Parts: sequence; structure tokens; C-alpha cells
Amino acid sequence: MTNWRAILNRLPSRTQLVFRGVAVESVLCPLCQEEEETVYHLLFECSTARQVWQRVATWIQRDIPLFDSPGGMIAWVDSHPLVRFIRVKLDSICTVVLWVLWTYRNAKLFNPERAKKHLLFYNIREFSFNWFVVRNSTVRISWVD
Ligand SMILES: [Zn+2]
Repeated sequence: MTNWRAILNRLPSRTQLVFRGVAVESVLCPLCQEEEETVYHLLFECSTARQVWQRVATWIQRDIPLFDSPGGMIAWVDSHPLVRFIRVKLDSICTVVLWVLWTYRNAKLFNPERAKKHLLFYNIREFSFNWFVVRNSTVRISWVD
């Protein structure tokens, strides 16, 4: 399984940078400009993140709860059965959602003309499949479209 906890703990959100003594021009979330940017806010609570998770839930035809913490997401993935790679697929998808949101956030901050919100979901579908296939090269799957 992906080591999310380690990944999430290392993400340099604006609040995290301030905590480490780095000067930042604002602690506001670059996506909504309304809340303080923590990793949790950015990846789960922000309106953009919620829209993305909702879209993914519709795609995979599963209810995805509003996770109360990154640990909540890990527990949710782990609660799924291993049969037919369900858990591995969810792990791939969740990893890619976090990565795509974080990449989008960086584009908004550092390369705004490349931040394309309308491509977020498309990228998630594309990258999830690739991520799964790379990690499970002996398995042949058909991906739900
Ligand atoms: Zn936000």
C-alpha cells in the first residue's frame, strides 16, 4: 500500500512552512482563497477537493465519506476487500487524487496558466489506470470508464 502518512506529513503546505519558520506571503489556500491552507484543507475540505472527490465517487460508484483526516482515508481504503483488486484500485485512485490535487495547487501558485481545473478529473482517471498497471504489471484489468 502507498505510504500516505509519510507523504502527507512531508507536503509543504503554507501553514506547514510557517510552522517551520519559512516566510510565505499568505497562509490562505491558493484554490479557494478562503481558508488557511493545511494539507487536510487542501486535499479533503476545500471546495475544489470536495468536487473532485464527489466526481470520483460517481465514477467508481461508491460513497466516499468526507474523511476527517488523512488517517480516515487510509482506514476507509483498508476497510475494502482484497478480492478483485478492489482495495488496490482504491489505493491507486486515492493516491492519484491526492497527487493531482497537490500538483494543481502547485500550478495555481507557481504556474497559473498551466492550472487547468477542468482537466483534474480526466487526469485522475488517466493516471489512476497507469498507476495501477505499473504497480501490478502481471494483472490484466479492464478499467471502469
Ligand atoms: Zn481551499
